[in-house]
Amino acid sequence: MAQLNSQKLDKYIFSNCNIYCPSTKKTVKGNILVIDGIVKDLNFNGELNDFKTIDCKDKIITPSFLDLRCHFSEPGFEDTESLNSGARAAIAGGFSQICMLPNTYPVLDSLDSIESLFYRSKDLIIDILPIGSITKGLKGVELSEIGLMAKSGIVAISDAHKMVDNSQILRHAIEYSAMFGIPVINHPENTDLKNSGIAHESLFSTEKGLPAIPSIAETIAIYRDLEIANYVNGKVHIPHVSCSESVKLIAKYKDMGLDVTAEVTPHHLGLTEFKLGEFDARYKISPPLRSEQDRIALIDALKTGIIDCISSDHFPHKIEDKESDLMNSKSGVIGLESAFSYSYKILKESGFTVEQVIDLFAVNSRKIINVPLNIIEEGGPADFIVIDANIEWTFDTSNIFSKSKNSALIGEKMKGKIEAVALKNKIHIIE
Ligand SMILES: [Zn+2]
Repeated sequence: MAQLNSQKLDKYIFSNCNIYCPSTKKTVKGNILVIDGIVKDLNFNGELNDFKTIDCKDKIITPSFLDLRCHFSEPGFEDTESLNSGARAAIAGGFSQICMLPNTYPVLDSLDSIESLFYRSKDLIIDILPIGSITKGLKGVELSEIGLMAKSGIVAISDAHKMVDNSQILRHAIEYSAMFGIPVINHPENTDLKNSGIAHESLFSTEKGLPAIPSIAETIAIYRDLEIANYVNGKVHIPHVSCSESVKLIAKYKDMGLDVTAEVTPHHLGLTEFKLGEFDARYKISPPLRSEQDRIALIDALKTGIIDCISSDHFPHKIEDKESDLMNSKSGVIGLESAFSYSYKILKESGFTVEQVIDLFAVNSRKIINVPLNIIEEGGPADFIVIDANIEWTFDTSNIFSKSKNSALIGEKMKGKIEAVALKNKIHIIE
């Protein structure tokens, strides 16, 4: 059973550390002395009675991660994922901050809904950074209270996994959010071309008789959004890029100087369309898993910086919603617990170092929404994670902290593991 062993971070020594700082790209050796959640000394060499020592030999100590897009289901669907269970899943993945999508009930579309979420999450073990909706009730018709929500602290706007079809509404949303310096995150999937598809449109889906979604459903949507953003000089972030053609489009607009960023999910980095061959709803994901060639293009795009970061797109569903037949099953998978370890496993095979993968989760995701990196320094709060980068392991349900178990990665090999998280005057050991 997945367990967090959480204690007060009162008197601790983290000994024999390799401390990696993503802003200087340097690793230094040290022994971190922490008293009451504050780093007192990075190179402590004495001995102290009644201090607990955590031996970090051969481990990496680095700032905790930020996840740019995930779904918690409170308020409204707490039996699928509460703020509390989602926060524990986040900690298990090394995340101290998560940006929460607005498809709750009620939808995060008003000042009241945002203030209420801040109130609900004020005592959580992690920070919740809300993403307000683009349109009221995610209906695509009328803009939400974007200005009021922006002043209250939302970090982006998005209609979660609903594409804003109306170009005029999207134009206004991009113009408006640019005034507050926050990005628009629009699910890029042309509604007509998506139709009732569930698989990538290819020879494979044709042979299997799976209703399919062509790559152009994504590229047409991204092209429209980039053109609008370019026209009004706005800021957009493209979520869960799934195909090579989209990468080319994003590269073109980045070259033109548009303020566009993009992200990929761990499952799109590692899995392909063939997973749906057994008609297993665990692999029903929006956008669909695509071809091997697309998968390689996504990894290359991370390498060249065309894609900026990795987001979990953690989307919990109850077992009955995933075990129904493939057509009626819901799309989406959880992923906070496995995001780093699976991404590192896949990216290491393509030549990434562990530090480069840490940067994707700790620095790049924060840059997109202008959240400063938490630096490990004397006098600052102890906000860091302990990673065993060498361990190889297999992900299974006993590693899941989420209330929902709909992971596409059960049985997959992982590389590196988050062992502990120091945060908000607590130490959480992941067991
Ligand atoms: Zn989406």
